[in-house]
Amino acid sequence: MRHRAGVWARQGTSGGDMNMHIDNVETKLITREILLGFWKVHILHHAKEGPVVGMWMLQELRRHGYDLSPGTLYPLLQRMEQNGWLRSESNPGGGPKSRKNYYLTKKGKRVLNFVKDRLRELWEEVGDETAKREN
Ligand SMILES: [Zn+2]
Repeated sequence: MRHRAGVWARQGTSGGDMNMHIDNVETKLITREILLGFWKVHILHHAKEGPVVGMWMLQELRRHGYDLSPGTLYPLLQRMEQNGWLRSESNPGGGPKSRKNYYLTKKGKRVLNFVKDRLRELWEEVGDETAKREN
């Protein structure tokens, strides 16, 4: 599903308009409470496939419908590095000084696997329930 501006949610009530637009205040709350975690999973996943750079990660998250700014992403990458999930290399291959490559650490890999198990478990319940309601 694609979300361009704001987040669309399914209304649990009967028939009619199934989609209800969530306002900006609510979107900010959802972002802080839930989506931040999703982004971290995305980052861990992509860092597992190869080194990631901030600008590319921003575009990738946009492709997924998450419109976040560098001012949100960079502190997040920094925190993940402080947690020991990522390590960064500045100026790889003599490129621009501000460019940083982020790599997944062994700890990060363990975190990703752990989260994926929880995600699978969650989806078994939440995902199946969605399917039931739609049928
Ligand atoms: Zn992705």
